[in-house]
Amino acid sequence: MRSTLSLVGGRVASGLWGSRLRSALALTGAFFLLLVTPPCEATGVGTEGHTFGQTGIFNSPEASRRLSREKLQAVSAGLERVTGWAGIHFERDTVLCLRDVRESGSGSPTARALLLKAMQTVTIFLEDYSRSFSVAFAAIQRRAVSHPDSGRSIPIFSLRLDFEDFRYLTGHPEALEAFDMGFVLLHELGHAVEGRSDPSDRRGTVEPGECEALVNEVRRELGLPLRAHYRSEHVFPSLLSDFSFGRIRFERMVEHQGKPRLETYFVQWPTKFVIR
Ligand SMILES: [Zn+2]
Repeated sequence: MRSTLSLVGGRVASGLWGSRLRSALALTGAFFLLLVTPPCEATGVGTEGHTFGQTGIFNSPEASRRLSREKLQAVSAGLERVTGWAGIHFERDTVLCLRDVRESGSGSPTARALLLKAMQTVTIFLEDYSRSFSVAFAAIQRRAVSHPDSGRSIPIFSLRLDFEDFRYLTGHPEALEAFDMGFVLLHELGHAVEGRSDPSDRRGTVEPGECEALVNEVRRELGLPLRAHYRSEHVFPSLLSDFSFGRIRFERMVEHQGKPRLETYFVQWPTKFVIR
């Protein structure tokens, strides 16, 4: 994946950062990046279906599905954590804006490239599906294709988020960090932007699949444990229990007394509250 970043005062490909240039700029404080992204306002004609014609990430135009300011901030903060870009925000609670972003010195290049590509190539409407029985954490659906001019077509997606589900997550801190809002968003962007899919059969119980392989690349870049499988396991606290947990395992090789050792971490949630 390639992204075009232009620095104030010079244009460079993201992979070609000279260390001398980088350290010289670091001395001046935070990096201010000028990214080639859509304008921070919804200029598309209309907000429904094929008439929209503007790439980027937008709050739902539908009143009942609109994300509150607090929820938009949760989305921005999640994306800031994985990309390492500070200053991601929603302009007028409507459109995701990268105009003022600056490098914080952390973050994943893969996450940055994926977000940038989403902003440049697809239209995504965020929809609030909190307390929904049909969405577990998040889901994305292709809705339509717009044709703003001849020769160009822009796929339009609905990205549904169930913010309540995140409140029920418990587990190891390392695993919770590897399965937060930012990572869940990146997973859905992997579907929309790169056309990656999840395992549809039982392989999902033993492997993460091609979409999570991309998200695992981000986790690797951030030094976090990797998701080991796609489908959650069902765990019953006792044989008599009618209460179960959904659980996902994360793994990381660590060095222990000079030898490599596989460490395992979990996130889990009560299945009766997080239903799909
Ligand atoms: Zn998926």
